[in-house]
Amino acid sequence: VIEIRDLHKAYGQLEVLKGVDLVAPRGHVVSLIGSSGSGKSTLLRCCNLLEDSQQGSIRFEGEDVLWKGTGLARHPADRMQVTRIRTNLSMVFQQFNLWAHLTILQNVMEAPVTVLKRDPKEVEEKARHYLAKVGIGDKADNWPAQLSGGQQQRAAIARALCMEPRALLFDEPTSALDPELEQEVVRVIKALADEGRTMLLVTHDMKLAADCSDHVIFLHQGKIEEQGAPAELFGNPKTERLRGFLSATA
Ligand code: ATP
Ligand code: MG
Repeated sequence: VIEIRDLHKAYGQLEVLKGVDLVAPRGHVVSLIGSSGSGKSTLLRCCNLLEDSQQGSIRFEGEDVLWKGTGLARHPADRMQVTRIRTNLSMVFQQFNLWAHLTILQNVMEAPVTVLKRDPKEVEEKARHYLAKVGIGDKADNWPAQLSGGQQQRAAIARALCMEPRALLFDEPTSALDPELEQEVVRVIKALADEGRTMLLVTHDMKLAADCSDHVIFLHQGKIEEQGAPAELFGNPKTERLRGFLSATA
């Protein structure tokens, strides 16, 4: 369970999150939608301790995740906490961020072996398993540059899965892709949702949000403007802002 209460985040004078509440129960997919600059990525980055925040709380499976600018990364015990949180809440980015000088297999194995100090033999087995699962088992020995965008993003998803996280955070995983490549990544995300994985999904793809979410949150200028079950939210939007947003993205 990911539980966010009254989260506030500012970059200097710029207030980006102005009191956001969100609960993602285990096995649920919660999607975040909203226009550019509404704070979607910032919210995910706070969950993963890529950002600090000023007020409110984030809890994951009962553990406090919040970093209130206390120099967390410098303290050894805290560093372990950061590693644990990032292992349990594994993030997939819009730009897949694969290491260009490592093969696909090495990319997927890198963090479990170097950060988590797992046995390389076992990790390799898992890595091959997850690469096959996302449909690119045959690309293990290729370099990232030899893969299409959709294949690279699937490799990035396999890399996140190889951490065996308890939840996945997706930040616009399909928006850097051509429409035809987008679909192969959408299929992988839907399959993960069907498996009952806990996921927070930031997406501009309303069809994806509608198809795989248990709950959808519409963010507007750092606040939740409207939220609900996908059928309700997309079928019967209540606020003018959401209606405007949906007609603009349709
Ligand atoms: P998009 O759909 O374009 O990805 P978003 O909803 O993910 O938008 P965020 O990336 O969370 O939006 O950004 C929210 C606001 O915070 C924006 O106004 C952005 O300019 C600002 N912002 C984000 N990161 C930083 C930063 N590191 N320093 C200063 N301002 C930032
Ligand atoms: Mg963003």
